Amino acid sequence: MDFKKLHQIEPGKSVKLKSIETKQGGPFKNKAEAVEFTADRNEKIRDLQYRMFVEQKQSLLIVLQAPDAAGKDGLIRKVLGQMNPQGCRTYPFKVPSEIERAHDFLWRIHQCTPATGMVSIFNRSHYEDVLVVRVEDLVPKKIWNERYEIINQFEANLVAAGTTILKFFLHISPEEQLERFKKRLDNPDKHWKLNTGDYAARDKWDQYREAYEDAIAKCNSKQSPWFVIPADNKWYRDASVAGIVHETLTQMDPKMPPVDVDLDEIRALYEREAAEQRS
Ligand code: ADP
Repeated sequence: MDFKKLHQIEPGKSVKLKSIETKQGGPFKNKAEAVEFTADRNEKIRDLQYRMFVEQKQSLLIVLQAPDAAGKDGLIRKVLGQMNPQGCRTYPFKVPSEIERAHDFLWRIHQCTPATGMVSIFNRSHYEDVLVVRVEDLVPKKIWNERYEIINQFEANLVAAGTTILKFFLHISPEEQLERFKKRLDNPDKHWKLNTGDYAARDKWDQYREAYEDAIAKCNSKQSPWFVIPADNKWYRDASVAGIVHETLTQMDPKMPPVDVDLDEIRALYEREAAEQRS
């Protein structure tokens, strides 16, 4: 199953989120099949990530954007967080601090992009600066409108430096979101996630949708693609993202570096030590 082809938005095309299903099962007959697929891909992702970490030549940036309760945290826990933490970091981007606000909007972002061999996962990202900032009118239109091009240049710069970029929009329906808000209310362990702002954002669902559609359409290229992931089924969300990350790492084809020591010499050293220890 080519999940990349299935969910990648074609560069240069506009996107209408309303015409993309939020609930899909893809090729899976049931949840169990999808969970098995995800576990298999997680293992393969870990192996490829290890190779990339040792190879030290390229890096991977994964951007997650979504409405509240669409499952960024769950996806990180069940798929992306399964990578070896030695070579992987997750960065949540919240309301900018005073010092962050005193800089250009990419300042805090650039510090978190992956070094060679590493994976960075952005839980929210620079896209907030053309999403919440636009919908909530936090800066004038003239300012946020220029940011699409600035983002394109920034991402092109990362790609030129050897970073592969994957951007995921977790696509959830308002009905499923409300259902999840209810589950949070019913579960005391989830009460820390509750806030009134989530309900205020629901009143602006259409405005957010338009802002997402513009961000996806205006900042979408072959090198820095957007994927719209149907997220009403958590198991499909996990399986399709695991599939795309695995396909991407496979294409990146990280290789173990060539051996630059004399193996016979090392073997002889080992034999000498082992003989000494025996005697
Ligand atoms: P999350 O919802 O990601 O789990 P929070 O509940 O702490 O985490 O929400 C983070 C908040 O920070 C969101 O409401 C998001 O819109 C806001 N935010 C992130 N980046 C910016 C930004 N650049 N400007 C304004 N608000 C931002």
